[in-house]
Amino acid sequence: MKWNKIVGQENIKIFFKKAIKEKRVGSGYCFFGIEGVGKFATALGIISTLSCLKPREINGFLEPCEECNNCKSIENLKFPNIEYIFSLPAGKSADKEEDGPIASLSDSLIEDINLKLRQKIANPYAKFKVEGASQIKIAQIRELRKSLSLSNPLPGRKFVVIFNAEEMNIDAQNAFLKTLEEPRDDITFFLLTTRREGLLPTILSRCQSVFFPPLSTEEIFYSLSKEYSMGAEELGIISRFSNGSLTRAYEFVESNLKMMRDKMVDFLRLALRKELPGATLFEQITMFAEKFDKREAQMCLQLLASWIRDVLVFMKSCDSGLLVNFDDNATLVRFANKFGPKPLKEVIEIIENSIYMINSNVQIPTVYLNLFLEIRKVLL
Ligand SMILES: [Zn+2]
Repeated sequence: MKWNKIVGQENIKIFFKKAIKEKRVGSGYCFFGIEGVGKFATALGIISTLSCLKPREINGFLEPCEECNNCKSIENLKFPNIEYIFSLPAGKSADKEEDGPIASLSDSLIEDINLKLRQKIANPYAKFKVEGASQIKIAQIRELRKSLSLSNPLPGRKFVVIFNAEEMNIDAQNAFLKTLEEPRDDITFFLLTTRREGLLPTILSRCQSVFFPPLSTEEIFYSLSKEYSMGAEELGIISRFSNGSLTRAYEFVESNLKMMRDKMVDFLRLALRKELPGATLFEQITMFAEKFDKREAQMCLQLLASWIRDVLVFMKSCDSGLLVNFDDNATLVRFANKFGPKPLKEVIEIIENSIYMINSNVQIPTVYLNLFLEIRKVLL
């Protein structure tokens, strides 16, 4: 994978390009930062550059060719000098050591995992999550230790990438620590994590930690605009909403954010009618329950909260340049003129409580009906 596919993170890129040039890539790194900021992309950039058989020099730094055998086999998940470690679901006999961690998984699940991993390599910002998995188990680390005790399958450096390294349970972390305590200069570990504090201090002290800051709105906007033919307005909303995570931005693109927010503003309008809109309300709530899953229903609520927060920002500043929902100023201004900041803050609290209710598995129609009634109570 070429360096220019890594979005932003210029300082980190330069740091590693130099390290490669000066042949001082270390044996263990902990890349930490929120999801979707390029931790895996950077690891893949380093791995590709160091493994490429015919790297080219561009502007004084090495670039992988993306054509040689090694570059191709990294893409196809067939490069034997990389091992990927990530949480696996518990199979029937997941913890029986003689079976190994993969033995208990069904063929279709293994196929699905391979497909997701390939997608993750093609687009390092794609979400990678194995259904039903939450722990990296000691059996996986034991197997890793076994394979690392042999010499590398191909000449050159071997790489181990651990996704969500904090998901190693305590036994797995202790076993992994032993591996770090016997460093080899032809192996590099990349521990990728969103929660660095979930790793043992003894592990962290043996790795070089690199913080990946959130991406800027402009970086996300630019990289989305290369891939999607959406309007600038919509891309702008998504870029501002994704809080610096390109992975989140992709999720937003796929779930059609503007449509969701408009539906929520309609819902708010409905709640503000003087007469109780019985049938229409029922229709709307049914639509929410049928159209959106739990996560999307929460996202809808987040969008509504953000819209109301914009109303508050506008009330204070009268400057629409500060707004996230800048495409919908007319409705927003009308709304701002009608209500004071205190009830609107209460509404935001109600919405946050609704998000919490969905988290605690309250049914979506119940949550929305409750939201509807509470909003009326506060605003009418
Ligand atoms: Zn190559």
